[in-house]
Parts: sequence; structure tokens; C-alpha cells
Amino acid sequence: MEVRTRFAPSPTGFMHLGNLRTALYTYLFARRNGGKFILRIEDTDQEREVPGAVDVIYNSLRTAGISHDEGPDVGGPCGPYIQSQRKDIYLPYAKQLVESGHAYYCFCTKERLDATRAEAEKKGEAFKYDKHCLSLSKEEVQRRLDAGEPYVIRQNIPTEGKASFDDAIYGHVEVECATLDDNVLIKADGLPTYNFANVIDDHTMGITHVMRGNEYLPSAPKYNLLYEAFGWTPPIYIHLTPVMVEGTYRNKKTGEYLMATDEDGNPVLDENGQPVKAIVKRKLSKSQGDPTYEDLLGEGYLNEAIINYMALLGWSPRGENEFFTLKELEETFDLEGLSKSPSFFDKAKLTWFNAEYIRRLPPEQFLEDATPWLAKALDPAKFDFKRLAELLQARTEVFSQLPGMVDFLAEMPDFNSELYTHKKMKTNPEVAKAALEMVRPVLEGVGEWTETALHDAVMAAVAESGMKNGQVLWPLRIAISGKANTPGGAFEIAYLLGRDETMRRLNASLAKL
Ligand code: GLU
Repeated sequence: MEVRTRFAPSPTGFMHLGNLRTALYTYLFARRNGGKFILRIEDTDQEREVPGAVDVIYNSLRTAGISHDEGPDVGGPCGPYIQSQRKDIYLPYAKQLVESGHAYYCFCTKERLDATRAEAEKKGEAFKYDKHCLSLSKEEVQRRLDAGEPYVIRQNIPTEGKASFDDAIYGHVEVECATLDDNVLIKADGLPTYNFANVIDDHTMGITHVMRGNEYLPSAPKYNLLYEAFGWTPPIYIHLTPVMVEGTYRNKKTGEYLMATDEDGNPVLDENGQPVKAIVKRKLSKSQGDPTYEDLLGEGYLNEAIINYMALLGWSPRGENEFFTLKELEETFDLEGLSKSPSFFDKAKLTWFNAEYIRRLPPEQFLEDATPWLAKALDPAKFDFKRLAELLQARTEVFSQLPGMVDFLAEMPDFNSELYTHKKMKTNPEVAKAALEMVRPVLEGVGEWTETALHDAVMAAVAESGMKNGQVLWPLRIAISGKANTPGGAFEIAYLLGRDETMRRLNASLAKL
């Protein structure tokens, strides 16, 4: 049997990290088993349609390196691969179920349904359609269809017995049929619901393994009833545990944050006496402010690091190694390593991965990736980006940090003279003044403005002056950078700034002392 898996996103306009992980696992499982990976666009919820959203899916998958063998843009033997273009495929199947008694036409108006729903609510019960239209005679149904009355087609769930299926992660799942609602299969607009389309599509596309979020777990028994009704073999189900996060929680309606309270229900205050937001465990969510895949790329996370991190978020490799290229994942991914409990997205851990990946980049690649970020703060015509990149690579965690790490080169920041104080370097503003006065003529006398020339001239003068290295180099770096932390030391910074700017800054800082 050839393994055939599918990723079936709805076009929402962004790639949720949970969805990216589903796509990744689904893809990896197909590759590992020499099977096919299919992309299907689930756009039957036309109200939620976002323009351009399908392109976002293609672009995200392409960037991620997750390539599909069949799909709307690449074609394949089971097309079309966009549900709205498969419209005519579903109705005949629904009619087949009506014929066999597993589904029925329903003409109930919105008013009637609302009233039934309100009644259920009053009794404190969950709403379930009352099978009202199941009792309509064949003739009456035909008459109303001929009259052009709007209708839906509902699944006829048995009133007793159990529905069940086996899941690769969750094991045997079983529910009482009496608890299940007669869900709509075909909507009034003629389009199928997800409940119906997923079954028809997975079957007609020959999908052997369905991997998706566990939010579909409760409905899967119902889908199995449909497979049974058609006499089809259901796919192997692999429902993935959710990607969670520990974060703040905001009420979507009021926009208010959930605030932290102590055991007595009193607000927890921070050191300034301000109430603190509660940190809760919840599903990762864009509307709660959690990043999407696109957000992370935009922040300067490397795709390879994101993929590696997401792969490990819910899957454990057998050995100790945590670093995997996509190719390596394709060779190692297995269902046995999938977690049975929820995983927590941890941005700090992702950032750690990213820093590792940045460190491992070939220097030319780092320079290329860093250039647009450096250019946000610095004019490439005025600064040696290559040298800067050499100094920055080992200390960069995320590319978006770069402008803030180098902007002091473009403009001298204001700084407090206390920055000259450094116990270990045995320096303070007074020592700094003497050191800078000593070093100024030395710098003025430097011939070619190179790091080596600067180093040799200044170090010789320091040795002669009897001062300690740190007593001169620390103040010099502060005087020309205004910062306690800089990529590179005094000589590198002086070189990057150039002779004129270095002397200008040195003089200005000395004047302040
Ligand atoms: N369209 C569904 C989603 O985006 C896919 C569910 C499935 O994979 O069956 O959540």
C-alpha cells in the first residue's frame, strides 16, 4: 500500500504555527514512507474567505521547504484540489446516503431551529436537531424539492449504539450515538460542510493516513459512521496533541486581560504597585497575540531553525541529537516519537535554536542575511558590513536585533559618564579623562586607519604610560560608542567609524568630562 497523506488548510490568510507543524509531520510521514503528500484547500466556508489567502499557503509551504506531490498548483490524478471547485462531487454522494437511509433532506427554517435551540438552552441541554424532517414522506420531500424550497442534507445518526474508531495516538475512541447531532452534510448553498467534505475528499483522494489537530477527535466517530455507510475503509487516524503556550489571556469581546490574583482572590501587584496580568496555559493563538509562522520569519528567525524547533514540539527523536535539517527529519520522523500530551511553544527555546543556526551559517550567508537588517540602521556606503558581520555573527540570536546592535555607529547615543566606571577595569570618569587625553594624540598620529595600526599604536602608548590596558581601552570604547556592550572592542569600533568620526566623538566625550 502506498502511503498518501494530506495537509488540508483553510485559507485564513496566515500560517498558524500549529498548522505548520501539522503540515510538517504530514509531509515527513509521507516522505519517510516513500509516499505522496497532497495539498488540499478547504474553502467551503465562503463567509470566512480571505482574499489572497491561498497564495499565503503556497508561499508558506514553499518557504518551509514542504513540497507537495499533488495539489491545486501542481495538479495530480485526484483533482481538483480546492474544495469549492469540487462542488459537484459531493451532492451525488449525499444523495446516495439519502437513498440508503443514512442521510435525509431537512427543510427546517432558521426560525424553527432557533426556537428548538432556545428551548434546549432553557432546559440546560446541548442542542441536537430533533430529526423533525426525517419523518417526511418521500413524496413530500420530492414535492418540496420541486417547489424549490431551500434545504440541507443531514446525517442520520443512529439513536442507539456506539460509534468508534482507533486513533494512532489516542487509541480506541468510542461515543454513544445518542450524544451525536445529525450534522448538516450539504448546506443550503449547496456546498458541503467540513464534516462531509473531509470524508468524501479523503476517500476519493486515496488518503491512507489522516493527520490533523485533536480538535477533530470528537467528530471522528461520526466520520466513521459515514465511511461505514458508504462501505469504505476509513484511513488511519493520527490526531495530534495541541500546541499550547503559557501566556496572557485577553477576552476577545471586551479586550480585557485576565489579571493575576492570589489565593484570596486579591490582585497580584508588581514592584510599582501595578496589577499584573495572569499567565495561563492555553492554545497557541494569533488573536491572543502569539506569533504566526510569517511573524517569526518577519522577526528574523531562520526558516531552518523554526522547522527544527517545530518538529521537536510534539515529537521526540530516538537519540540525543536535537539538530535536524529537513532532509534528516525526512529520514528519521516516526509516529512512535509523537507525544501523547500537549506541547508548549517556548519562544526563548526557539530563539536559542535560532542563535545556534545563525552561528553555524557560513560567514558569507550570514552577511547576506544580515545586510537588509543592518541597512535599516546604517548606510551600506559608509560602513564595512563585511567586518561588521564578522563581529556580529556569534552574538546574534535573531536578525531583528541587528539594527539595535549597530545603530550607535550611525549616531552617537547620549550616555552618562558613570558608564566609565568599571571596578574590574579599575577605571572611573577621572581615570577615563586621563586615559582619553593620553590616547587622543596617539590616534591623531595613526597613519593608515586599520585595526592593526590602531591596536599597535595604542597598545605601545598604554605600555609606556604605565596604565593598565582596561583603564584605557574601556574608556576609549565608551567614549566613541556610548555603550557598555558593543560588537567588537575599541579598535574595531574606531575602524568602523573611520578616522574623522572617531576623533569627533572622542573630542566631544572628552569635552563632557
Ligand atoms: N481545514 C481543516 C483545518 O484547517 C483541516 C482539518 C483536517 O485536516 O481534516 O483545520
